[in-house]
Amino acid sequence: TTINDYLRQYIRTVPDWPAPGVQFRDITPLLQDPKVFRVLIDAFVHRYMDPALRPDVVAGLDARGFILGAVVAYELNVGFVPIRKKGKLPFTTVEETYELEYGSATVELHADAVKPGDRVLLIDDLIATGGTMMAGKKLLEKLGAEVIEGAAIVDLPELGGSDRLRAGGLPLYTLVDFA
Ligand code: 5GP
Repeated sequence: TTINDYLRQYIRTVPDWPAPGVQFRDITPLLQDPKVFRVLIDAFVHRYMDPALRPDVVAGLDARGFILGAVVAYELNVGFVPIRKKGKLPFTTVEETYELEYGSATVELHADAVKPGDRVLLIDDLIATGGTMMAGKKLLEKLGAEVIEGAAIVDLPELGGSDRLRAGGLPLYTLVDFA
């Protein structure tokens, strides 16, 4: 069985959450089983240990991107920086606002989180419309960093987000696709 099929078994689909008609892909079972958690993290670590892809910094997107990103950064022996929903970071920040289906969202990054020229790996749990990851990329680029790749456990390719991100110049690495 491929890693894709193996991990897929541990992603739980919750119907009508957080709103009617939404099929939420819940990744918490992947974290709960120590053997599966290790397979998941090692998939990312092995890819980014490659000298051609090894980042200077890992940036994680609020909130499940923190869980993955922090562990991957630790294993790569590089630093971790959080990209947070607005209002959570205490120091000077840069911010980026993006459109949601209803309304908008703003994410922030500490102004000293990365340096110009840093090669950054951007991590989240899932790519839907791609809006969150694109906002993260823009924040890091505002500080002069280079986002070498976006990584996520799950891609929902039918929503077009991963295609838009790739077309916008962000290479992606995802482990499981859901229609
Ligand atoms: P996007 O910005 O790509 O439309 O949505 C992705 C963001 O929303 C990610 O930060 C992700 O955590 C969250 N998200 C949206 N839908 C789901 C889902 O079905 N499952 C999980 N685990 N996260 C989701």
